[in-house]
Amino acid sequence: MELSICEIYPTIQGEGFLIGSPITLVRFQGCNIYCSWCDTKYAIPFKENVKVSLEELLEKLKWIGRKHILLTGGEPFAHPQLGYLTEILIENGYFVQIETNGTLWQEEFEKLPRKGFYISLSPKASVNYRIDSRILSFTDELKMVVDDKLTLEVILRKEFLPLVEKGKLILQPESNKKKFVKKSFDLIDKLLKKGYTARLIPQLHKLIDLP
Ligand code: SF4
Repeated sequence: MELSICEIYPTIQGEGFLIGSPITLVRFQGCNIYCSWCDTKYAIPFKENVKVSLEELLEKLKWIGRKHILLTGGEPFAHPQLGYLTEILIENGYFVQIETNGTLWQEEFEKLPRKGFYISLSPKASVNYRIDSRILSFTDELKMVVDDKLTLEVILRKEFLPLVEKGKLILQPESNKKKFVKKSFDLIDKLLKKGYTARLIPQLHKLIDLP
C-alpha cells in the first residue's frame, strides 16, 4: 500500500489537550478545503509523486520509537487508506491521534478499538464550519481556531453543543496573535456566563520554535 505522506519526524504535540506529548508527526499531502491562514500550505495540494510505502512508514516509525503518532495534514480523512493505516498502527501498539477539519469520515473507524485512536476535530470557517456529523460521537476534543470569523453562535451550534457541555472545547488563537488571544478571553467570559467552559491553548510549537 502506498500513502501520500510528505513529512515524518519526531517532535512534540503543539496543540490541544495532549500538548507537550512526545510524538512522531506524520503529515498527509493533500487537503480537501482551503484556509487562508493555513500554516502548512505546502501540504494542501494533492500530489501524485509524493508516496511512501506502508512498509517504509512502519520502519521509520519503529526507528524513531515514539508510541504516540500524530496523523495530520493536509487532511488525513481525504486519504482513503487512513482507516486501514490506523488499524495497522493500533495493531502495532501505537496510539493514533488524528487532526481533522471534520468534513469527511471513514466508516472503518466505527470498528476500531476506541482507546487506540483520538480525534481532534477542528471545523473551519472556510466551509462555514460544516462537518460530517458521523465524526461527532468519536470526537475527543473540539479545537476552534479563534480568528476573525469565529463567533459564540458558531461554538454553540447544535452539533457542537454536546462537546462544549462535556468540556471538550479548546480555543486556539490563530497564529498566537494578541488580538485573537483577547478575543478568546472574551469568548470564554461569554461561555462562562452561559454555564460552559473552554480552555485557551496556544500553539506551543510556535512559541518554542519547533516545526
Ligand atoms: S483544513 Fe487544515 S490543512 Fe486544510 S487548508 Fe485548512 S488549515 Fe490547511
